[in-house]
Amino acid sequence: MKITFLGTSHGVPSAERHCSCAMIEAGDAIYFIDAGASIIEELLKRGKDIDKVRCLFTTHGHGDHIYGIIQFTDLINWYYTDYSINVYFTEQSVSDAVNNLILATSGSKVKESRIKFITVDKDFVYEDENIRLSLIPNMHLGTARPSYGLLVESDGKKILFSGDLSRGLKEKDFPAILAEESIDAFVCELAHFGISDMLPYLDTCKAKSVYFTHVAPDSKFEDIKAISNDYSFSVNILSDSDEIEL
Ligand SMILES: [Zn+2]
Repeated sequence: MKITFLGTSHGVPSAERHCSCAMIEAGDAIYFIDAGASIIEELLKRGKDIDKVRCLFTTHGHGDHIYGIIQFTDLINWYYTDYSINVYFTEQSVSDAVNNLILATSGSKVKESRIKFITVDKDFVYEDENIRLSLIPNMHLGTARPSYGLLVESDGKKILFSGDLSRGLKEKDFPAILAEESIDAFVCELAHFGISDMLPYLDTCKAKSVYFTHVAPDSKFEDIKAISNDYSFSVNILSDSDEIEL
């Protein structure tokens, strides 16, 4: 599978970075993890077939992870009328809000025969001929609202997206699977805690490579570089348009 990072900023975009968005190409299909960027523009820029997009997955309901879904779904609804997509939300209220916004702005309901809005729970597993995706609950939004990391498997390779985690990692929601399995790539946010909060977890991490994204404030880029040679796995900083091939 190939993962292209279309948005690597934290909750606020910068001149160089869109908000969280990753495109996964596996088999003949395209999947998205979060949509903080304009999906349609990024696909067109790269010459990708829009009808190859099969699923949009989200890690949680914050706007910097879902606003791109509104535009993309709206266009599938009224313009790209031969296309179908599944959109996976983590909360029914966010799904309903997107549905209602499309109705209010376009005047027509989301066509459920082509556009499926699905609200997942922690036991959700997506599987087709290309990928398997499962959820790792985390505490980014506390106990009141759900939030997840996503484990994506394709062709024997595994990539884990941390999602957003708890402030200061105080809820100890660093994915336990990283100490148990040799995951090929771990994509970790770095907005809600510092490298020093992660050190005990990095010491037990068996991932083959770690990629930092969602980094804030900018001073943490230097913190990442300072530890980048301390581990047996590679430590990297993601920028928009970076690709990982697994
Ligand atoms: Zn968030």
